[in-house]
Amino acid sequence: MSRIPDLAAALERFLERVEPYDTAPGDGPVATVQVAGLRADLTGYTARALAAALDAYTDPGDRGQCPSCGSRRLDTSLTCYDCGTVGGIFGATLAARAEHIRSWGASPPS
Ligand SMILES: [Zn+2]
Repeated sequence: MSRIPDLAAALERFLERVEPYDTAPGDGPVATVQVAGLRADLTGYTARALAAALDAYTDPGDRGQCPSCGSRRLDTSLTCYDCGTVGGIFGATLAARAEHIRSWGASPPS
């Protein structure tokens, strides 16, 4: 299991990167974030920046959605852990080829 990162330090680093661009740094706080002992008052600018950063996050394990069952649990080859369907272009190619072979019936065409 991986170590839990220092969230307070990450928030401090984020605010250090964003605050120089705050066009109204003297405005009162619109929100307060408290993380692991750090209490940070956010201006409208820094609050919008934090929301944008959170919205932009994509989990490294996010490989989309299974085209068959809708599960989001796909391995690195886009194979669904729940139903076994292979997704993506490769999966579509495999499915088309399997259907083609299935159409042959008991034996391949001569
Ligand atoms: Zn599936």
